[in-house]
Amino acid sequence: MSSPVRVRFAPSPTGYLHVGGARTALFNWLYARAHGGTFVLRIEDTDEARNTAAAQAAIVDGLRWLGIDWDEGPEKDGPHAPYYQSQRGAIYDAYFQKLVEAGHTYTEENGAVRFRSPKEILILPDKICGDIKIDRTAEPDMTIRRPDGSYIFHFVNVVDDIEMEITHVIRGEDHIFNTGKHIELFQAFGVEPPIYAHIPLILNADGSKMSKRDQGAAVGYYQEQAFLPEAVSNYLCLLGWSPKDDREILTVKEILPLFRWENMGHSNAKFDLEKCRWVNAQYLAKLDTPSFDHLAIAWLLRQTSALPGTDDSRLVGALPLIRPKIKGIPELAEHLPMLFDGNAPIAEDARAKLAAQPDLANRLATLLTHLEEAPSWAADALQAVITAAAGALGIKPGALMFPLRVLATGQTHGVDLLPALEWLGRTEALPRLRARAAALTGAPS
Ligand code: GLU
Repeated sequence: MSSPVRVRFAPSPTGYLHVGGARTALFNWLYARAHGGTFVLRIEDTDEARNTAAAQAAIVDGLRWLGIDWDEGPEKDGPHAPYYQSQRGAIYDAYFQKLVEAGHTYTEENGAVRFRSPKEILILPDKICGDIKIDRTAEPDMTIRRPDGSYIFHFVNVVDDIEMEITHVIRGEDHIFNTGKHIELFQAFGVEPPIYAHIPLILNADGSKMSKRDQGAAVGYYQEQAFLPEAVSNYLCLLGWSPKDDREILTVKEILPLFRWENMGHSNAKFDLEKCRWVNAQYLAKLDTPSFDHLAIAWLLRQTSALPGTDDSRLVGALPLIRPKIKGIPELAEHLPMLFDGNAPIAEDARAKLAAQPDLANRLATLLTHLEEAPSWAADALQAVITAAAGALGIKPGALMFPLRVLATGQTHGVDLLPALEWLGRTEALPRLRARAAALTGAPS
């Protein structure tokens, strides 16, 4: 019987949680959950100069946001604690002694200690990439301990994988060359290396390597932009995994039973933020109203400029009007001002389009007169009023809708007009309709 699955995500907290890292974490987590295994979070924080507490917080926070929980790791502990490499010095010293005593090392003049590489050609049976040949014959011996006594990444990474009884190492293809070094170390310790699965890289649409500066490269971006975490993990899974049918919208729960090596992609994945937005829109459309409202309000409260001076209940009332028009929460910012700001000036394109309409002043005046006398301000009553005004003018009711939209919002397009007017209410709507009509025709309001 094979030993129970133990996988890990081992980020170095030197920057933000990158989509590549998040995908690696997700794939490890999926593999653990699909096999009833254990998912370990190990913080590889040995590089004091480059590690920051903020980066570490962003990693933990980003993973939690994505719904990736760990069985062992920071704030959780477990049988192999501590899970911070910076606190595991004694373990590394002990393992280092083993290598020294077995004659696998030599010390340089400057005090650096190198590992005596067997210099062989390794064949790595990779679960995703198939057999990979790693030629180590011409490689220099790697340093494992610096003159100041600190250990090199390769050494501590392998020691921890041994100590934490990691059975599968699932990480980016950019580590393949490192894996050659790691296998040598495992062999020197007399330990069977774990099973390796290297995931193809995530590239930009133009084939270039993704950098931290690319929009959407950091998980924090999706948190800020109020994406749904389920949508982002769905999208991340599609970068390197597929259900092998046409489906693209799958929750992590649906992916779990289908998370097999055969379903992993072999070529580099193309990162496409628009596609991620589309996936998010699918999830957003299915969201229940209270959750949508909660997400929207939470996002609005984080904006300094987009929040029009109004109370939450009024905002919540406006959300059903806007919801059908938007694909992402930040688009709220485009729609809210025109609903809440009665003094917003008329947009240039709206003004130009209206100027082309015949008999404009008379039409606006007739429309306003009818609206002033509207028996009710409900959407269907307003429709009847518009029909009556159009009848008086001898034109089709549709011809009055665009002018009315401009009077109500100052814009050429936006949310459904009559429900918006109903939401606005007569006492707020009429003054802004009058004021904009006056601004358009020069008549006193
Ligand atoms: N700390 C390494 C990194 O972030 C870990 C690589 C690994 O998964 O072994 O690249």
